[in-house]
Amino acid sequence: MRTPLIAGNWKMNGSAELIRQFGERFAQAGLPEALDITIIPPFPYLDAAQHAFEGTRLGLGAQTLNPVHSGAHTGEVSGQMLKEFGVCYVLIGHSERRQLYRETDDHVYDRTQAALSVGLTPVLCVGETLEERDAGDTMQVVLRQVGHVMARLEPAQRQQIVIAYEPVWAIGTGRTASPEQAQEVMAGIREYQAGFDTQLAAQLRLLYGGSMNAGNAAELLAQPDIDGGLVGGASLKVDDFYAICQSA
Ligand code: PEP
Repeated sequence: MRTPLIAGNWKMNGSAELIRQFGERFAQAGLPEALDITIIPPFPYLDAAQHAFEGTRLGLGAQTLNPVHSGAHTGEVSGQMLKEFGVCYVLIGHSERRQLYRETDDHVYDRTQAALSVGLTPVLCVGETLEERDAGDTMQVVLRQVGHVMARLEPAQRQQIVIAYEPVWAIGTGRTASPEQAQEVMAGIREYQAGFDTQLAAQLRLLYGGSMNAGNAAELLAQPDIDGGLVGGASLKVDDFYAICQSA
């Protein structure tokens, strides 16, 4: 019922050459039919990616957007601009944005509204730090981050959201949440959504992110509440990312 989604977050990495390699590789057959795949490169590569990915299995995402559509915001990019380059998904609230650029739950909500207003699918990223997990606060933190956005959206808007659970301690560390740990939190997020609407909860796509790779993807993706992955490091190697997609 829920089409899996594998999204590759390149962060501030990649090159025009890597875009070309991905376009070539993902034009080939051999991937599950019912699978959405998206590459999320840095802004400057969106134009080249839109062309290189034409006719392939790859869609396009962006790593952030500004809450307003245009104006005096030096260095920023709006959702309308992203749409012009064929972008469908946009990451919102990635832990690196929360930590390095001080994005708060309010910023995350504003960006979510901006994305929805132009028809982009927000991929709302949530997750606890190691200290929060060790203190037993995982569910409270995750549901606060989810709730700050979801509780303020209209019912029709909630249907447009994808949520990525990314424990901060697993991002870029090589330390993956166990399938059981990930499943427990994802089930909690789905249960929270069921409080709004059980049908919405059943349709909500939940991604796991945090050192997913070709070796551990199958086991994580086999969990009942994990509908895909948000992949960082392993999405920079075409063979690894292709293998992850094959296991979805
Ligand atoms: C990410 O940045 O969203 C991520 C999950 O990174 P990594 O796979 O490298 O842990």
